Amino acid sequence: MKLICIGRNYTEHIKELNNEKPTNPVIFIKPDTAILLKKQPFFIPDFSNDVHHEVEVLVKINKVGKHIDKKFAHKYYSDISVGIDFTARDVQQQLKEKGLPWEKAKSFDGAAVIGNWLPKSDFKDVDNLNFSLKKNDVLVQNGETSHMLYKIDEIIEYVSKYFTLKIGDIIFTGTPAGVSKVDPNDKLVGFLEDKQLFSINVK
Ligand code: MG
Repeated sequence: MKLICIGRNYTEHIKELNNEKPTNPVIFIKPDTAILLKKQPFFIPDFSNDVHHEVEVLVKINKVGKHIDKKFAHKYYSDISVGIDFTARDVQQQLKEKGLPWEKAKSFDGAAVIGNWLPKSDFKDVDNLNFSLKKNDVLVQNGETSHMLYKIDEIIEYVSKYFTLKIGDIIFTGTPAGVSKVDPNDKLVGFLEDKQLFSINVK
């Protein structure tokens, strides 16, 4: 399985990193080895001094698809969650400056936190959800899926032009503003609406 991630999907986050607003979704992929195993702490890798949390809404693909029209995209996922796209910002900055791919900054072991899944039918409208991240009990990121530049169904349409979506693939839909460095002993807790879906200790 693969993790398909969207970058630059929230205007306020684009501004905080001084990036340009994309004319198409920005896509990158993490391998399954990036998944942080359940109940494991996140270990800050020794090649970075500036790993950031990026809380994101996730959807899990439940059916094989290619060239999916956005009208039908809602049929390709039934579960939704939140997770973290951990990013070695210092490494990413160097790669960006050289126009190189981001994998070393974003796809290393443990760089993908996946929360507990909920049926999307628990919610009235996936394009109108609040999600958030608390670091050491302080709210640091607070997003609304209604603020996505590319909505979930548009993302599925776009990425499935390039990649066959397979059962179990997970889409990371981008982070809102409020990213910041994580330090040893931080505790990161993610929420979708009022439901706590993960809790991670940083080492
Ligand atoms: Mg991200």
